[in-house]
Amino acid sequence: MAVVGGGSTAIDAARTAMRLGAAEVNLVYRRTREEMPAQPLEVEEAEQEGLKLHLLVNPIRIVGNGRVEGLELVRQSLGEFDESARRRPQPIANSEFVLPVDIVLAAIGQSSDVACVEKCGVECNRNTTVKVDNKLVTARAGVFAAGDVVLGPATIIEAVAQGNNVAQTVDTYLRTGEPLSKESWLAYDKVPLTYKMEDYAEATRAEMPVQDPVVRRSNWREVELGFSEDACREECKRCLRCDLEEKESAKP
Ligand SMILES: Cc1cc2nc3c(=O)[nH]c(=O)nc-3n(C[C@H](O)[C@H](O)[C@H](O)COP(=O)(O)OP(=O)(O)OC[C@H]3O[C@@H](n4cnc5c(N)ncnc54)[C@H](O)[C@@H]3O)c2cc1C
Repeated sequence: MAVVGGGSTAIDAARTAMRLGAAEVNLVYRRTREEMPAQPLEVEEAEQEGLKLHLLVNPIRIVGNGRVEGLELVRQSLGEFDESARRRPQPIANSEFVLPVDIVLAAIGQSSDVACVEKCGVECNRNTTVKVDNKLVTARAGVFAAGDVVLGPATIIEAVAQGNNVAQTVDTYLRTGEPLSKESWLAYDKVPLTYKMEDYAEATRAEMPVQDPVVRRSNWREVELGFSEDACREECKRCLRCDLEEKESAKP
C-alpha cells in the first residue's frame, strides 16, 4: 500500500497499517526528508519498522482496472521558495513511473471545520484558522481560541503552551471583564531555579528507551517506554541555551 503525505498523520497512518498487517507500506512525499513536517524521530522509527520512503515524488493518478493496482508518480525537483519558506517542488518532465500498490491512503491537508464558529460571529482566516489578537481573544466578546484552530496543524506542546496562556486570559477576563495583556503572561511563568544552569550547558538530550522495532511492528503498545524519574528530572534541568550559538559566533 501507499500513504501520501509527509506529516504526523501520514506517519501514524503508515505505522498503523504495518500493525494491521500490511505486507509493504510505502510513503510518498513531494519534498525532501528535511522538509517533512513529521518529527524526524518518528520518521526514523517508522523506517526501522519497515516503512519505505519515496521522496521528491508526487502522485498524478491511481492506475488499475476496477481495483487499485498502482500509483503513478512523477519525480520532483525543488524550485523557488514559496510562501511557506520552503522550495516549491516542480515535476521533472518524462520522469513518471508506477509504484505497484493495492491501497492508497491520502494523509494530506489537515484543516479545522470552522463553519459553526463563523456562524456565531467568530472571525476566521482563509486557511480555516480562527482570528485572534495577541491575547487569544476572538472577534466575538467572551470567546477565546487556542491550539491548532489558531495555529493550523501544529504540535501538542504548542497547543499546551497556548492553552496555558488562554487560561490566564480567560481567568482575568472573568474576574475583571478585561483580557490579560500578553506581557503579563511571562510574569506568571517565572519559576525560581534551584540549580545552576551552567552545569547543564554541555548536557545532551537523554535517549528515550523504545520497544524493539521488530516487536513493536506487531503490537499496539506505546513505542516509547518512558524515562525513569531521575532521567526525567535531569532532562527538565537541561537548558536549551539558545544564547550559546550567538555567544560562540561572536568570538573572534
Ligand atoms: C494523526 C495525528 C498525529 C499527530 N502526531 C503528533 C505527534 O506525534 N506529536 C505532536 O506534538 N503532535 C501531533 N499531532 C498534532 C497534535 O495532535 C495537535 O497539534 C494537538 O492535538 C492540537 O491540540 P488542540 O487542543 O488545539 O486540538 P485537538 O487536540 O484537536 O482538540 C480539539 C477538541 O475539540 C473537539 N471539538 C471539535 N469541534 C468541536 C465542536 N464543534 N464542539 C465541541 N468540541 C469540538 C474535538 O473533538 C477535540 O477533542 C498529530 C495530529 C494528528 C492528526
